[in-house]
Amino acid sequence: MPEGDTIFRTARTLQRALAGQTVTRFETVLPKLARIDYDTPLAGRTVDSVESRGKWLLMHFSGDLILLTHMLMSGSWHIYRPGEKWQRHRTHMRIVVETPAILAVAFNVPVAEFHTAASLARREGFYSLGPAPLAGDFNPDLAIAKLAAQRDLELGRALLNQTVLAGLGNIFKSEVAFACGLNPFRKVATLTEEQLADLVATARKFLLANVTETSGHRRTTRSIQAEENLWVYGREGRPCRRCSTPIRAQKHTADARISFWCPVCQASRID
Ligand SMILES: [Zn+2]
Repeated sequence: MPEGDTIFRTARTLQRALAGQTVTRFETVLPKLARIDYDTPLAGRTVDSVESRGKWLLMHFSGDLILLTHMLMSGSWHIYRPGEKWQRHRTHMRIVVETPAILAVAFNVPVAEFHTAASLARREGFYSLGPAPLAGDFNPDLAIAKLAAQRDLELGRALLNQTVLAGLGNIFKSEVAFACGLNPFRKVATLTEEQLADLVATARKFLLANVTETSGHRRTTRSIQAEENLWVYGREGRPCRRCSTPIRAQKHTADARISFWCPVCQASRID
């Protein structure tokens, strides 16, 4: 599943390929987008920039038009040269943005909307986004304060709250809690200021590391082996890489998202 690091890399790739280019053709199978393209055509506009915010991808066009997409579980953006064979079947295509040199193709994106700057600022789930650890203007103190405010939430749920940290997903959630030695089922209220700061710094470190990662595998350990790339995520019953205790996995009752942890390295005692 794409997390903030994946979307950041996608945005960076699209930015390099498209920024400053003029759109020569826009195609979509999504009626709402097609209607806006009909009323205010995309062709002829310039792609000003492409950026990520948390797990959202924003493509800015000249004339105050923004294409907002969210990949959820299944979506992806690809870039192709004109005439190059697509890696996905055409039936999965939702959007094509074509410039003289490049086709950017969105496959299976479940959320795709056009916005103006004003309508985007009002969009539910977007204006409330917390600080994005991969953003250039990331404010760690704000992120710590937002995390601290989730007092009654279990840590594993608070870390997934996109109003706290934009871009952290289910894999990194478990990895960050492990790296900080904290049980994901502890209430945030039981954590010290220092532990909160450690969580935020670790989340940023892992996301940043995976932005530059070239192996194609998301990883938090130092190993370059694909099967040794994570500490706890997806490793239920297998030995902890630090202490050999079997890793545990359990769903949080409120949101049913699973957390993986080592019962020894992440003892639930209150420090
Ligand atoms: Zn352990």
